[in-house]
Amino acid sequence: EGLVRHFGSAGGLFKPARAPVRAVDGVSFAVMRGETLALVGESGSGKSTTARLVLRLIDSSAGRIRFDGQDITDLSQRALRPLRQRMQMVFQDPFASLDPRLKVRQTLEEPLIVHGMGNAAERRARVDELLGLVGLSQHHADRYTHEFSGGQRQRVGIARALMLHPDLVVCDEPVSALDVSIQAQVVNLLKDLQARLRLTYLFIAHDLAVVKHMADRVAVMYLGQLVEIAPKHSLFANPRHPYTRMLLDAIPRPQPGEPSRHQAQAAGEVASPASAPAGCRFHPRCPFAIDRCRVEEPVLEPTEAGHMAACHRKNELAPWEAAAPAAAS
Ligand code: SF4
Ligand code: MG
Repeated sequence: EGLVRHFGSAGGLFKPARAPVRAVDGVSFAVMRGETLALVGESGSGKSTTARLVLRLIDSSAGRIRFDGQDITDLSQRALRPLRQRMQMVFQDPFASLDPRLKVRQTLEEPLIVHGMGNAAERRARVDELLGLVGLSQHHADRYTHEFSGGQRQRVGIARALMLHPDLVVCDEPVSALDVSIQAQVVNLLKDLQARLRLTYLFIAHDLAVVKHMADRVAVMYLGQLVEIAPKHSLFANPRHPYTRMLLDAIPRPQPGEPSRHQAQAAGEVASPASAPAGCRFHPRCPFAIDRCRVEEPVLEPTEAGHMAACHRKNELAPWEAAAPAAAS
C-alpha cells in the first residue's frame, strides 16, 4: 500500500546531492489467495523492485506491506524468518540463481537445512518428491545444474522455491531467459503447480504475451507507478491506458511479415525514472496527450468493475481493436 522506494545519493564532499530516483513511487495493490497477479512493464518500470519490496528483500522508503493480514513492514529480519518460508521467489535467470558447485540434490536440500527442517531421510524424500512435481527424475539429483538445459535449470529453480511449502511465490520473469519453445512448457508447469499446491503468484513479465495464459489479473507499471490494473479479460478486451495499448500492440502476431503497429508507435524514447516527466509520465510517448497531460498527474481511478486506470482520457479513447492479423497473400 503506497509503496515508495528511492535510490540515489545524498551527495558528499565532492559530489553534489542529486534528487533521489523514485524507482517505485506510490504503488498499491493486493494479491488474492490462489490467484495470479501479473505485474507487467518495460525494464526500468520498477516491477522487480516492487517484488523485492513486497518480500522485504529491500526496504521501502514509505508504504505498508501486509502478508496474510499481518503488517510485516517493520518486522526485523529475525522476526521475518518464519514468514520467509511462506514467501518464495523464482528468479529470472536460472543460470545465475543456482550455485554451479552444488549438485541438484544439495541445491534443493539447502533451504531445508537452513530452516532446520527434517532429517536426512526426510530431506531426501522431499527432494525426490519435488523433482517429480517439476517433471525431473531422481537421476537428475546427482548431477550439476550446468549439465542441464535452460528449461531444466528453471525447473530446479522452481523446485527450490517450493521446498518449504510456500503460499506466495513471486516469479520474476521466470521464462524471459528461456527459448521461446521452452517458455510455454515452464508456464504450463507453473500453472499446473499452482492448481495442485494452491499457490498464489505475483508474476512479473515485461510483455503481455506471456501473462495472457497465466494471469487472473494484470497490473501495468510505467516509470515506477501503476497505470492500469484489471481482471485479465477486461484488460485485454478493453484497455484504458494508452501504454497498455502499446504493450498489446507489441504482442507478436502469428503471421510474420507486416511491421506491427508497435514498431511505428514506440519511436518515443523510453524515459528513465531519473528524469520522470512532469504531469503524466507517459506523455512524451503518448499519441493521445493533451495540454493537461503535461501538467497534471493522473491518478488510478475505477473505470468498470475491478478495472482501474490512471489516464485523463481513459473514458474518451476509442474502443480498442486488437491489431488484425496480416492478411494472407
Ligand atoms: Fe496519454 Fe494523457 Fe492519458 Fe497520460 S494522461 S496516458 S499523456 S492521454
Ligand atoms: Mg527485472
